[in-house]
Amino acid sequence: MNNFTFYSPTEFVFGRETESRTAELVKKYGGSKVLIVYGGGSVIRSGLLARVESVLSDAGIAYVELGGIQPNPTDPKVYEGIELGRRERIDFILPVGGGSVIDTAKAIAVGIPYEGDFWDFFIGKAVPEKAVRIGVVLTIPAAGSEGSGNSVITKLDGLKKLSLRTPEVLRPAFAVMNPELTYTLPAWQTACGITDMMAHIMERYFTNTEDTEVTDRICEGTLKAIIYEAMRVTIEPCNYGARANLMWAGMIAHNGTCGVGCEEDWSSHFLEHEVSAVYNVSHGAGLAVIFPAWLTYMAEHHAGKVAQYAARVWDVPKSTDCKAMALEGIRRFKSFLHSIGMPVTFRELGIEHPDIDLLVKKFHENKGERVGNYFPLDSKASREIYEIANR
Ligand code: NAP
Ligand code: FE
Repeated sequence: MNNFTFYSPTEFVFGRETESRTAELVKKYGGSKVLIVYGGGSVIRSGLLARVESVLSDAGIAYVELGGIQPNPTDPKVYEGIELGRRERIDFILPVGGGSVIDTAKAIAVGIPYEGDFWDFFIGKAVPEKAVRIGVVLTIPAAGSEGSGNSVITKLDGLKKLSLRTPEVLRPAFAVMNPELTYTLPAWQTACGITDMMAHIMERYFTNTEDTEVTDRICEGTLKAIIYEAMRVTIEPCNYGARANLMWAGMIAHNGTCGVGCEEDWSSHFLEHEVSAVYNVSHGAGLAVIFPAWLTYMAEHHAGKVAQYAARVWDVPKSTDCKAMALEGIRRFKSFLHSIGMPVTFRELGIEHPDIDLLVKKFHENKGERVGNYFPLDSKASREIYEIANR
């Protein structure tokens, strides 16, 4: 196990009707004028936005709003939010929604106090030292942004989908997590979220760092719990227990718990970011196509931990043939993804003729010549993985 610092100061307020505590939490963390950020309308249709507005008004907290954030959020809404926030002199940002809304709020939060272009932070030109405080009301377990210090934004110019990672600055002060708010999720979004949270665990699990037994077991146990609850929620979308476990799993998957002491990989996410940037597909569905392809490549080139994953997560019988074990684990993973309605090839994702030359080019332009740690990918490897996904 490597040396590590793990800092996760977010206050999680979990359970039924917890959104009624939003105003109390905003006050506790110093907010007096709030910028509410939300998406394309699900929180209006469910009545959640009106409930949040009402608890803020009752507590005498002023607010302004920025709606219309789309999945795979882009930079224009960030600039709009920075301008609005500065003009209105807000001192707190409250995203009500999923990863796209939270990530936009985070980019606005670092952009408001910065004199330059917020995009400087995403291209590594500057490092954020301060941010407007954020509290979250979560509506979809998926990205884990409610507990992470990350933000992922696409710059429309060049379709660059890049992430900013600053746990010290960007972890939300609080996250309100009411599983009942996720009952309205379409089955497709639920499945995209399940795939994304599994991917967040696996990006950390596939490491060459040795002596990570505790972290490995946390990863494997959480993956098994997600698989179990995914099957329950597929049959019964309003099962509180299944929704609650998935909601908490989405947070655990991405607040760092699953990667302490490990050198993490993240190449599947980066391969996927090019797909969702160019074709605007759901991030989770893109991962359902890319991750099995990455694993298939690894079964050939670095099978060890994939065999362990097959045995411990997918109950593949142990044998001395690591590659065969790995391939059987991947077959079971893909079968699970199909069972929750996810695609596992580009064609199933609706991309008949992916421009693999473009994807490979953008991937290495954005991420460097060799990407990832478990088995660093050069352009031959990344091309082969995109081609496996296209079979
Ligand atoms: P999302 O893009 O925020 O939302 C997906 C869709 O679900 C939207 O159409 C949204 O509709 C709908 N929705 C959300 N909650 C709903 C509810 N309770 N009922 C009905 N519909 C609901 O989903 P996400 O997967 O959380 O976020 C994806 C983004 O996060 C991607 O850009 C991905 O790259 C990024 N990401 C970030 C991190 C991180 O650490 N920051 C990690 C992984 C991924 P409305 O718009 O109408 O609300
Ligand atoms: Fe993700």
